[in-house]
Order: sequence, then structure tokens, then C-alpha cells
Amino acid sequence: MSINLEEQARALIRADNFIDGQWVAAASGRRFAVTDPATGKLIADVADSGPADAGAAADAAAKALPAWRAKLPKERAAVLHRWHALIVEQQDALGALISLEQGKPLAEGRGEVAYGASYVAWFADEATRIYGDVIPQQQRGKRMSAIKEPIGVVAAITPWNFPLAMIARKIAPALAAGCTVVAKPAEDTPLTAIALVMLAHEAGVPDGVLNLISASRESAAETVGEWLADGRVRKITFTGSTPVGKHLARESAGTLKKLSLELGGNAPFIVFDDADLDAAVTGLLAAKFRNGGQTCVCPNRIYVQRGVYERFSALLSAKVAELQVGPASDPASQIGPMINARAVDKIARHVEDAVANGALVLTGGKRLTELGPHYYAPTVLGNATPDMMLCCEETFGPVAPLFPFDTEQEAVDAANDTPFGLASYFYSQDVRRIDRVSRALEAGIVGINEGALASEAAPFGGVKESGYGREGSKYGLDDYLSIKYLCQGGL
Ligand code: NAD
Repeated sequence: MSINLEEQARALIRADNFIDGQWVAAASGRRFAVTDPATGKLIADVADSGPADAGAAADAAAKALPAWRAKLPKERAAVLHRWHALIVEQQDALGALISLEQGKPLAEGRGEVAYGASYVAWFADEATRIYGDVIPQQQRGKRMSAIKEPIGVVAAITPWNFPLAMIARKIAPALAAGCTVVAKPAEDTPLTAIALVMLAHEAGVPDGVLNLISASRESAAETVGEWLADGRVRKITFTGSTPVGKHLARESAGTLKKLSLELGGNAPFIVFDDADLDAAVTGLLAAKFRNGGQTCVCPNRIYVQRGVYERFSALLSAKVAELQVGPASDPASQIGPMINARAVDKIARHVEDAVANGALVLTGGKRLTELGPHYYAPTVLGNATPDMMLCCEETFGPVAPLFPFDTEQEAVDAANDTPFGLASYFYSQDVRRIDRVSRALEAGIVGINEGALASEAAPFGGVKESGYGREGSKYGLDDYLSIKYLCQGGL
């Protein structure tokens, strides 16, 4: 039975900017369309903001900062706990809204709500644990200590693949630390972020403390540019592609802001001869095909040792061929549509290039145009080689290319042969190999015999061109704090 997502989500759909506690249209009056990726049908026309709107949001955040940072940590924690309760209360409607604008199956939409909410609860508690240090005395008559203070106004810019979780895990630590926020969600999926801000307001986040503006792809650079040049905005927290991350780093240099960049990945997934193969297949299915492969930690290159290559590829292909593809409104769907035409074109280009260079299609390998314009079949490719496009670039779709290898060193070298370093995975039952390989992999996150890695209690982030900064855990709060050294003399 098909579910009417729009009906379930309707009460949460708003289409205006939220600045200084008010719902306002873009100053220019312009709007842009947000559509359902499964059907191309219009969901809402939202505000297409420009520099004037970004400036108004920054004014509000700067004005609200002194009172918010002066609140007791437990007062900020109480507001965040109320926000968490409202998000959980609205899990079904928020889950339907995520699925409607982003396309992921409804069970995953609801799962994302729980996952995003877990960061809000975590940082509500962390707000009360922002400790400093008393430095052991070095000189008589002098006392030294280090305290942590909110960094100031934070600009948060987020991608479309997790419309709720990505923005929640930026706003929650910023508010917990005592910062105020200006946010711009991705143009494909702004509605979930707008709903989240509406619930934050209901939970008692004071006017001006959290401001959100939406903008089309065409307006994004100019709009965000206003924040990059604004000296009052002290931090940029960004999740998205590496080229845009580099652009933000360059453009914010003029006011020397602190940056957290959660960028693209090209995750390796290594299956050694001594792995539990059933566990490796289960782990790969979870890591690779979640959200239709549109996840920054999705394995992009699967290295399989020659001794188990045939068995592993047969087991995996049989499971992938069974995955149900369809719209989020069908509860049986396990893989939804890709986000837009650009995304599905890139996947098709990567598969065509791989096949032209000798890869074998073990299952899938085609668009599913009978379902709609943005569907691609879950795919396993055999005999992949390093010269293929899908080895160097993130495919961001449901394609698993298998690369055979012979030795541990060869697998580690191939895994590290990329400018990226976000997630990595390997399966082995040899304790010495587990120790060696986890140290040798150049990545911010290593999954060892495990495919599901993200947790609010763990530090999430990359190395190399996957960015810097961490989200989640106690480390996630440090990105929103600056350290002040106090030196008291005359004692
Ligand atoms: P994107 O970089 O195109 O867009 C991300 C955000 O930046 C959007 O809000 C967009 O409007 C904005 N933006 C685009 N151009 C801009 C500009 N010139 N100036 C200012 N803002 C601009 O990325 P995307 O396509 O939305 O997301 C996919 C990418 O995000 C993938 O590379 C994926 O790996 C990455 N990602 C990383 C993580 C992580 O935690 N590391 C998580 C999710 C997604």
C-alpha cells in the first residue's frame, strides 16, 4: 500500500526564511521550486535568498549572542532537551518530509530523525561539561588558568543527503557552546531544515539565536559570500563537496575564520582472505547501499583478496540483485531515486566508463527509467581497475566496484592512493592484521568488521582532502569553543 508522504508531512512544511524569530520572505521576493525526486512534482516554492537576507540573519545572530552566551549551561541544555523531545514527538512527520524531498525509503527517513535527534540530546548534556584547566603553578604570586568560551556567530552550510542529521549535528553543538547560528541548507532539501528550526523556536530557542535562510544553487555563492566577508561571523561549519569546501576556505581567509569542513570521501572497503564473508557482505550492504549509496562514508572501492574473490562476488551479487528499488511512498522500497538528474548522470557515466575499460556487470548496470527519471539499478561490477573514473572520484550512487588484490601491502597502498581520507573499512579475523591495517589506513574513521559507524558519541570527520574538524562526541564541541588563557598576578 502506497503512503501519502505529503499528507503526513504537511503540518511541518513552511517556505519562508526564519530571521530574528520571524518568518519572512526573501528581500527580493524571489522563490525557487523544491521538488519530489521520485516524480519531479513541486512540493513548495521556498525563499531564494540573497546577500541582504544573509546580512539580516547575521545582524540578528550578532545581536542575540551576548544574552545567549551569558545563559547558564544548564539553561541552554534545558532548551536543547525540549527541542530533542519535539523532534522525537514529530518523528513520523519529519521522516515523511525527509523521504518526500530527498527520496530515501521511509524507514530510513524515520531512522535519520532518530539519528539526528541523538546529537541534540548528546550536546544538550555536553553543554554542562565544558571544563577548563587550572595550570599547575609556575611562579610565586601568579596563577594561570585556561577557560573555554563560545566562538561567536557560526554559519552552518549543509548538503542534501541527510537533510536533518547534517544540520542538527551543527546547530546542537553550536547552541550548547553558547554560539548563535545562521544556517543555509542545501537547495534540493531545505524543507526539513526549516521544519527543524520551527521546532527549535517552539522549544524556546530565543529570537535571533537560530536563523535560517534558503537559497537556490545559483544564489548560494553570493548569499553565503556575505557571511564569508562578515567579520562578526567567526566560524564556518560546512558539510559538502571538496571543491566547495576549498572555495569557502579561500574566501573566508580575509576575516580568518575558524573552519570545520566535512567533505567528500572515496572510502575503501577491504575483504581479506581470512574474513567472515557473510559478515563482510552484510557490512557492505549496510555501508554501501544505505541512502542509495549517497553517503559520504559509502565504500566507493571494494578490494577483495584473490582467494575469496569468486565466493564474495557471488554472495554479494545475489544479495544486491534482491534489493527492492522504488519510491519512498512504497514501504517495500529499499533503494529510492537519486537526488536529481546530475547525480544519476554521473553514476551512468562512471559505469559506462568502467565497462568500456573492462569491468564486468555482475548485476544491475542500468538506469530504471520505467520507475522515473532518477532511478539507477543497484549494481555490482567485477574486475575493476585503478584507471577507471569510479576509482578516483566519488560515484555517490548504488554501485559497488570489486577490485581483486593479492597481498595486504598491495591492498593498503591502493586504499591510501587517493587525496581523500574520510571513512575506510576492512574485514579480517586476524588480530595482528587488524592492528597493522587499522594503523596503516589514512582515514579519519576505520570500520573493523563493521559497516555502520556513525554515532553521536564518536568523533566523525576526515583527514587529507576530506577536511578537518570533528562532529559528535566530546571533540565535536571543541570546534565551537575558543580557549582563553587567564594569567593573574600580584597574589
Ligand atoms: P555541495 O558542496 O555541492 O553543496 C553543499 C552545500 O554548499 C549546499 O548547501 C550548497 O548550496 C552549498 N554551496 C554550493 N556551492 C556553494 C558556493 N559556491 N558557496 C557557498 N555555498 C555553496 O555538496 P552536495 O552535492 O550538496 O553534497 C554532496 C557532497 O557532500 C559529497 O561530496 C559528499 O561526500 C559530501 N558529504 C560529506 C559529508 C561528511 O560528513 N564528510 C556528509 C555528507 C555529504
